[in-house]
Amino acid sequence: MDKRKQITEQSHSIPVAGEADVIVVGGGLAGVSAAVSAARNGSKVILLEKSIILGGLATLGHVCIYLPIDDGVGHKVYGGLAEELLHVCIRYGYDNLPACWKQGADCVESPSGRYRTNFNIPAAVCALDELMEQEGVQVIFDTNFCAPIMEGKTCRGVIVENKSGRSAYLAKAFVDASGDLDLMFRAGAPAETQKSIVSHWAHEIDLDTMQKGLETGKAIQALPLRWLGLRPDADNSGAEIPMYYGTTSEGVNGYIRTSRKLALDYLKLHQSPSYAQMTLPLMPQFRMTRRLIGQEQLEVIPDRYVADSIGCMIHSLEVPAEVYEFPYGGLIDKEITNIAAAGRIVSATGRGWEIARFIPACVLTGEAAGLAVSMAAQEQVSLQALSVPALQQVLAGRGVKIHMDETLRKNRRPEPGQKKDPKKTDPNSIVRADSLSYNH
Ligand SMILES: Cc1cc2nc3c(=O)[nH]c(=O)nc-3n(C[C@H](O)[C@H](O)[C@H](O)COP(=O)(O)OP(=O)(O)OC[C@H]3O[C@@H](n4cnc5c(N)ncnc54)[C@H](O)[C@@H]3O)c2cc1C
Repeated sequence: MDKRKQITEQSHSIPVAGEADVIVVGGGLAGVSAAVSAARNGSKVILLEKSIILGGLATLGHVCIYLPIDDGVGHKVYGGLAEELLHVCIRYGYDNLPACWKQGADCVESPSGRYRTNFNIPAAVCALDELMEQEGVQVIFDTNFCAPIMEGKTCRGVIVENKSGRSAYLAKAFVDASGDLDLMFRAGAPAETQKSIVSHWAHEIDLDTMQKGLETGKAIQALPLRWLGLRPDADNSGAEIPMYYGTTSEGVNGYIRTSRKLALDYLKLHQSPSYAQMTLPLMPQFRMTRRLIGQEQLEVIPDRYVADSIGCMIHSLEVPAEVYEFPYGGLIDKEITNIAAAGRIVSATGRGWEIARFIPACVLTGEAAGLAVSMAAQEQVSLQALSVPALQQVLAGRGVKIHMDETLRKNRRPEPGQKKDPKKTDPNSIVRADSLSYNH
């Protein structure tokens, strides 16, 4: 973009299209969680989503794998909405959870099968719609957040653009669940950006796999996911596939072109009457783009007690998974009084950012952010002045594990003299889903 050539936008009045207690920007799983959480606390909630379906990367981006909510060695880590949304996503579709876990077992006996599941995207989308209706959340699709309306450090509303043109939505408090920190960044919060590798998942059909699937009687066995592109667990620095920023138009367009080229290359190699690629991602599959540099950050120090924890988090691909407590200060800016972050944009560096972006972690921060802004709006206090013990109490009452108990702590400690291999990963983890080899 040539920034030397500029025009001045004409100022004009725009209509106020709606008002609520809480507005959530972005309807990925973090935004859904934030909206439900605020609504259950008695707030009137509007959710603004630029696409036409809920779920974000998990549905539009075909990341239809709800990673484990357990530590891999027998203990549930995520409760609350992180557990509930897993069950919503599989309510009307397939899953690969053992039957006993569907009842919400607290203890997962076997480390060989994690409390994780694949889900069917259309079934999950419809179940999420149903949930929003049940919770009284007003979802406005096809509506792009453009700019915050700020009064000093307080947000009074957001300007959006949709088929009706440009309009404003006003609220007492906001959750940024845009996946890219669009709202908080434009409101002036400090942020870190990162380039993302190009890779994407697509469902495919080949008749051999389908035949085997038919024999099991399970649709899930007939619809494999294909991984195309670079791998998140590898050093991709010498790779020929470029990396892109997800926070500029050039980056997004570069990513999309490269990702599509990978699909085309694959089709050229594997074109056959018995093969069909069934899906292409409907949003770029960026992992991390921009995140908040908040009042606090998630520190990846095992066994650390965090006084203002809003819940426990794990690296969802490790066995055993180390448990970390996520600080409330990681959801908020030092100064902006009434916007909280949720999902893959929360304040966490390096490996912490990696941990915070997994679906169960995104739903956890969504639940905490939605509740926090709802409580702050009701009590007419800033997010910085909110009573964290009161927030923790409500979250705990909803089944969120605020602090590690002794089981989670002891469980992962290596025996004296025994060294734990930090790279040990879940044998069923996504990194094995497919490789660069393009083996069909
Ligand atoms: C290739 C890949 C594989 C992955 N594999 C797994 C996995 O197997 N399991 C797992 O748990 N996690 C996985 N992840 C991570 C996980 O999918 C995401 O981090 C998580 O789904 C993010 O949720 P979110 O709600 O924070 O953001 P998103 O899902 O990105 O949702 C953001 C939402 O905001 C909307 N939005 C954005 N900008 C605006 C705007 N200006 N106005 C209005 N709406 C807007 C978007 O349309 C979207 O719906 C993977 C990620 C990638 C990229």
